[in-house]
Amino acid sequence: MSETEHYDLVIVGGGPGGLSAGIYAMRAALKTVLIEKAIPGGQVNLSDEVENYPGIKNISGAELSMKFNEHADNYGLEIISDEVTVVDPGLDHHSVTLADGRTLKSHSVILATGGTPRKLNIAGEDEYYGKGVSYCAVCDGFFFKGKDVMVIGGGDSACEEALYLSKLANKVYIAHRRDAFRASRMLQQRVEADCNIEVLWNTIVTEIKAADGAVRHVMLQDTQSGQQRETPIDGVFIFIGFVPNNQLVPAGVRKNPEGFVITDDRCATNTQGLYAIGDLREKYARQIVLSAADGCMAALSAAHYIETRKAKSGDRTCTLP
Ligand code: NAP
Repeated sequence: MSETEHYDLVIVGGGPGGLSAGIYAMRAALKTVLIEKAIPGGQVNLSDEVENYPGIKNISGAELSMKFNEHADNYGLEIISDEVTVVDPGLDHHSVTLADGRTLKSHSVILATGGTPRKLNIAGEDEYYGKGVSYCAVCDGFFFKGKDVMVIGGGDSACEEALYLSKLANKVYIAHRRDAFRASRMLQQRVEADCNIEVLWNTIVTEIKAADGAVRHVMLQDTQSGQQRETPIDGVFIFIGFVPNNQLVPAGVRKNPEGFVITDDRCATNTQGLYAIGDLREKYARQIVLSAADGCMAALSAAHYIETRKAKSGDRTCTLP
């Protein structure tokens, strides 16, 4: 590759959204590159089981990621393993700078950078991360085999991860700040039916305490009475939502107050030729199938945008699928 390579489309992020965009872009004959700093697949790699991707009854997250990757590879999608440091929109073309110093020029850019688990910001959370505090049951659950763990949160992630941990741990507590889950009815029913899981309703964790470098206790507070108590625990798994990885979103691109990028129904931002998809985009629900759908929509939309630009300049080299 030369110092400055020109593309029709640069995709930043290789989760289900980014890889789906890559598949559709290749089918549209767009000169496309996908940049991913870690292993392609994104957050899905961390899911133990995926049971709601249409057409596949049950599959591990890592295996589903592999299938997305293989599918994109089948179309010859170029994937660069590097970190993007800057996305700089321009009138003529957008510039994408990589950590190794290269700059890619592109007619359009799809941002598919996903999100990161939200932090509780309580005492002990940062200090004991990796020593009993975790944001990934599939990654760390094994270390708590036969031990007592606490899951914090009441959404799909908290319930799903509690069910996973229940197969390993001696006892799983779920501390939820109110008296009803946000999770889907099916996950709620599974949690209710699991006799190894005890739900602590109206309960928040105010501090994580350790001894000899490992988590030993948590301070709990009843949100109704305000009463505090300390309870012994070996591991704390925090699943209280998601914050968007929006560091690369250029200034001037509209975001909502939580930092998710606002797009139209074609995943286009208010900057021409710049799209945001998947967990980075403001939307009602965050699901693998929705990220994949966003990827499809953004790639088709980008193909139309590029074709129009090229037609205006007399250069027709891309074909819609
Ligand atoms: P979520 O749906 O936003 O739920 C976050 C949970 O954490 C809520 O119960 C919330 O309580 C609680 N919470 C938030 N801030 C808190 C704080 N400071 N202290 C204590 N509790 C706090 O997040 P998620 O479960 O990570 O899910 C994210 C998205 O991914 C959702 O759209 C979800 O449907 C999707 N997802 C889907 C699946 C699946 O379909 N299998 C699996 C995982 C995730 P409140 O309820 O009181 O607000």
